Order: sequence, then C-alpha cells, then structure tokens
Amino acid sequence: MSSSVALRLPSIDGLLRHPACLPLAERYGREALLSGLRQLLDELRLSVLQGQLSAIEISPEVLAGRVGERLAQQQRSNVRRVFNLTGTVLHTNLGRALLPDEAIDAVQMAARYPLNLEFDLASGKRGDRDDLIEGLIRELTGAEAVTVVNNNAAAVLLTLNSLGARKEGIISRGELIEIGGAFRIPDIMARAGVRLHEVGTTNRTHTRDYEAAISPRSGLIMRVHASNYSIEGFTARVPTAELAELAHRHGLPLLEDLGSGSLLDLTRWGLPAEPTVRQALLDGADIVTFSGDKLLGGPQAGLIVGRKDLIAKIKKNPLKRALRVDKLTLAALEAVLGLYRDPDRLAERLPSLRLLTRPQAEILVQACRLQPAMAEVLGEPWQVSAVQALGMIGSGSQPVARLPSAALCLRPQVSKRLRGRCLLNLEAALRNLPIPVLGRIDDDALWLDLRQLDDEPTWLAQLPQLQVES
Ligand SMILES: *Cc1c(COP(=O)(O)O)cnc(C)c1O
Repeated sequence: MSSSVALRLPSIDGLLRHPACLPLAERYGREALLSGLRQLLDELRLSVLQGQLSAIEISPEVLAGRVGERLAQQQRSNVRRVFNLTGTVLHTNLGRALLPDEAIDAVQMAARYPLNLEFDLASGKRGDRDDLIEGLIRELTGAEAVTVVNNNAAAVLLTLNSLGARKEGIISRGELIEIGGAFRIPDIMARAGVRLHEVGTTNRTHTRDYEAAISPRSGLIMRVHASNYSIEGFTARVPTAELAELAHRHGLPLLEDLGSGSLLDLTRWGLPAEPTVRQALLDGADIVTFSGDKLLGGPQAGLIVGRKDLIAKIKKNPLKRALRVDKLTLAALEAVLGLYRDPDRLAERLPSLRLLTRPQAEILVQACRLQPAMAEVLGEPWQVSAVQALGMIGSGSQPVARLPSAALCLRPQVSKRLRGRCLLNLEAALRNLPIPVLGRIDDDALWLDLRQLDDEPTWLAQLPQLQVES
C-alpha cells in the first residue's frame, strides 16, 4: 500500500457540473460526454487504488482535457482529405479524379432537391435515368445508345452477362489481365456465365487465331485494354477494324473494354496517346466500356456505349438494376460531359486534365519556392532539394509513360543503417498532419511530387506542426 493518503476519483455528477466540462457538453452533447467520462474513470480506477496517480492527474481540469481530446478524436470524420503528392495523378486508393466546380454544384443540387431522375418532364410520364446523359454521350462519342452503371468493372460484368451468357467469349491470351483489387478478366467472365475461349499467345495473337476459335458455341469476341502492363518487343495485335470485320462476318458482337478510355485525343495537350471511344466505335466495336473517374475526369461510373439493339438487351438484364448509378453520380457525370463540348477550355476547367498538363517548369518553380520552408521545418539531419521527378497518370492509363514533374526530395543525412527507419518516421509524421501528406519513398529519399499541390497556403500553414520521431 502507498503511504500517502488514498486519493479518490471525482464523481461523475461532480464532473458533469464542473466548469471545465460544461463546454464539452455543449459541443459534443451530454450523452457523449457522460460515456467518455465513465470510460476514462473506469480506466483510471485501478491506478488510483494503487496510488500511481497524483492529485493533479485526477483533477477535474485534467480529466476534462483528456475526455475532450477523445471526443474530438471520435468526432473526426473517417473520410478525410489528404494531399496526394505521390506523383500518381489518378490514384485509385486516393479517390481518382477530382470533380470540377460545375459537377460539385450539380451534386449539391441533386442532393438537396427532388429531381427528374426517372421522370420525363416533357410528357409527364415515367422516364429512364440513362436518358439524362444519353444525348451528350452520343454527341461526344458517336454512339447510338448508352447505359451507365456503378463502375467499369460492373460495365464489363453486365455486358458479358447480357450478350454472352452460356456461350463462349473469345479473347487473346495477351489480354487476360488482372487490374488492382482482384478484377481479373477470366474470373469476371466466369462470374458473368461466359465460357472463356483464349486464343493466341501472350505476346502475339493473329486474326487466324480468332477465326479458328469461332464455332456455333461462340457468343462474342472481346478485346481488353492492357491497362497496367505493356507488351513490348516481338508482338502482334489485330487492329480493331480487322477484328470487327471478322466478328461481323460471323454474326458476333465485338466488345472493347477500353479501361480508362478517353473522349478526346490527349496528344493535343502533349499527353501520351490513349485510344478514344469514338475511334473504337468507328473501327467497328459494337460495345465499348470505360470508366467515369479515370481519364474522363468525372465521378466513379462505368459507361457502356454502342449499338442500340445491344444496349437495349443490356438494359433489360435484371443485373442492370443491381448495378445502376445513383442520382449524385448522374448529376456529376452530366456536368463533366458538358465541359467536353468546349475542348478549348477543357484543360482549364477539368481538374484532372489541368493537373495532368501542368508544365514541369511551373512545378519546378513551385518546388524551389517551397524548399526553404520544408528545409527549415525538418532541420539538420535532412537534405531538402527541389528536383525534377517523374510521375505517372495512374489508373491503368499508359503504365509505362512518365509525366515529367518536379518534387521536394527529402534525404536523411544519416548512416545507411538508420536511413530506412528515418524515412519511415518522416512518412508517418507527414501522415499525422491535420491534412495528411502522402509522398513516396524511393532511392533512399522521400519524394513529394508537387504536380498536384494546388492549395499551397493550406499545405504551408500546417507544416510547422510536423513532428518527426528521431
Ligand atoms: C480500370 C479498368 C477496369 C475497372 O474499372 P473501374 O471503373 O475501376 O471499375 C476494367 N477494365 C480495364 C481495362 C481497366 O483499366
């Protein structure tokens, strides 16, 4: 037993009435405060009995402070803004494309008021939610018809199931890909009820390979954008136009999963070429699927465009109802598509395209501007330099292409043995900031690629709070 006079924890009632707790009740509600206090007192009871705590440590002021911290923590949202300085612009784990103001306004409107989601205002009759964007999609892609689902994975699943169930789907071995998060073409085909008929080899597939596979059991021919890998060297791929001609000669539809896809030729902004949806349709693909939140720069969605009779079949599939998009997505998508009608101003107005096309020189100037502040906060053991760096588009667009960018390169000036630990500590400290900052570790340094650092004042303002464990 401790020799000092036994201390006693304050009572719950006393604490609830204490001036130090009143603002907490006001802010978080009495219920939350009560349960926070109960929890804390329960945790402290044993230590108090054993005489391990001082009178100060169990004073109402200190207890109120501790409960206040916990309540603040609990109230903080789990969905949090971060700074994406990884160098990957369309980062799947960080939410991909950022919406333009026009889309954010549209989402607000759709969230706040009733709307004509499935209601035809002209006739006063029931409508179809796809109609809200069909006109724009047709104009922008040349497609006959369109339907929208939750994401491109859903688009592929629904299309395969609608057009190829219980039949064979013919696809090149070079296109049996896996995309992050367990999306594998052979598995999706199986789940869609389509029997996989793979043809050719990983690096070379010819028209005669497809032709030899066609039989009365065939239901469709599929082509998939390789997305996150590239086949180089001794390769052969059948042009879409030739494959479409073959498919149509045998009465089969040709599906093309473009993955990211693009509505416009990106080379006009100096970006690497990506196949456009319009071109795939012109080449003869009957159905083209692509994502809403990759290069398109909109909300998460999967777009299915192409032949009217096939789209009608897809829309009749009961799975369509399970995979449909919500009103907020449609509102955002329509607003984003609207911006594409004015390609000349698209790079100013669509955040993903604006970020993708930021010139390296401009980013390097920004890196030089921020270098002193970063160096000052990190202090002695770190060498901070403004350097050129290479980023990437992300989301399976041009996996090999690199975006010339610039970064703050943070290099610990310590022995090789300690370097790894040092970098991990800094990485954790950056994640711990009020708005977590995410970079990437490479070549014994932590890189903060500044291509996506739009909001410089906010970033700078929180920098002094950085606390790196040594
Ligand atoms: C990204 C991608 C998908 C999945 O698209 P989500 O919109 O992420 O569901 C499907 N196919 C290809 C080729 C892709 O690149």
